[in-house]
Amino acid sequence: MRRLPADEGSQAAGRVADVRRRNLSLVLDRIAARDPLAPAPSRALIAAETGLTKASVSSLVADLLAAGLLTEVGLSRDGERGRPGVGLALNDGLGVLGLEINVDYLAAGVVDLTGRVRIQVVEERINSGRGPEEVLRDLSDLSARVLSRAGQDGLRVLAAGLAVPGLVDAESAVVLDAPNLGWSRTPLDLAPLMPPGGRGATVALSNEANSAALAELWYGHGPTLRAYLFISGEVGVGGGLVFNGELFLGPGGHAGEVGHVVVTEEGSMCSCGGRGCLETVAGQEAVFAAAGTAGSTPAEKMERLLTALGGGDPAAEAAVARAGHYLGIAAASSARLVDISAVVLGGYFSRLGPWLLPALRASLATHAPRLLDTADVVLSELPQTAALMGAAGSCIRDVLANPQELMEQPPGAASAGA
Ligand SMILES: [Zn+2]
Repeated sequence: MRRLPADEGSQAAGRVADVRRRNLSLVLDRIAARDPLAPAPSRALIAAETGLTKASVSSLVADLLAAGLLTEVGLSRDGERGRPGVGLALNDGLGVLGLEINVDYLAAGVVDLTGRVRIQVVEERINSGRGPEEVLRDLSDLSARVLSRAGQDGLRVLAAGLAVPGLVDAESAVVLDAPNLGWSRTPLDLAPLMPPGGRGATVALSNEANSAALAELWYGHGPTLRAYLFISGEVGVGGGLVFNGELFLGPGGHAGEVGHVVVTEEGSMCSCGGRGCLETVAGQEAVFAAAGTAGSTPAEKMERLLTALGGGDPAAEAAVARAGHYLGIAAASSARLVDISAVVLGGYFSRLGPWLLPALRASLATHAPRLLDTADVVLSELPQTAALMGAAGSCIRDVLANPQELMEQPPGAASAGA
């Protein structure tokens, strides 16, 4: 049947809008991908790199400047002979709220569009066994303090992401299983955590280790690694698998849970209900117990463990070496199964690196000879709050992939959050 001309017209208009959306995102992507130390690219350079015409780039950039996503930053020469053009950069006056609930602390911070952590507050808090309402209330107080500082600093906060130490259903904001918190099938009321004037329907919920693995990908060693297993040491042991620049979650979102890979058949019971998981021998509490480290909080125990290691305490050294040995077994099995070429250690594992790595490398040499070389094990250089950076980073990527959503906001909404 012949369509009505009006219908054809609206379809064509839809296609034009789609192309424009893609091109806006393409331009932002080119600017976001620049080495921060390189000169800011000009319109002409972006045109050359994207294959778009200079006129198109100028028009797209005008929209992105009007939406506040870009700023102009002085002159930038495109090459030896090119005329200098005005440089373009992501507007670092825009940011995203990153939040983290962990077993022994809460954290909130603002990461700007360029990936810089501009504000960050971490508070020690034993959250295991506490109800979600109570924990979210404390997190909301922390977040309000961070947002107030963001306002004072002139930062506009666009969205929010929250990382928790457990499996999540992000769509319905439910923590499916967080054994170290004692939460199971726990719905979270995230609406009060939304920054005023923020875009998107709600706070994006994610798994802490997956978010930390993504932070590593975007802001850490990731760009130089092709396929890696990220292993994060907290009270629990979390993990994330990254292949070709993407986090692999598997059909149920549970892939990469290296903390619950079995490393010792006769081992003790794990919080997950299984026996002999990596977490039971390399989790923080297991290491403290083996080292005989006392203290009132995990943070205090960690400082004491590091002091003991620095002083050459044999029990502390043996406890950490034991964790390294089992980390090696888990990494060797994982490498055989999924073809990873590197292991990145994050969380407290990176702080224990000097004492952990010799045993880990010996274990890899025994269990995965010629597969994972000693050079393929690297320590994360990101701070303890890598998960917060990853949770915020996901939202930043979402903003940059869908810039038109910001352009469609009524002008009054723009300053409500600041
Ligand atoms: Zn387990």
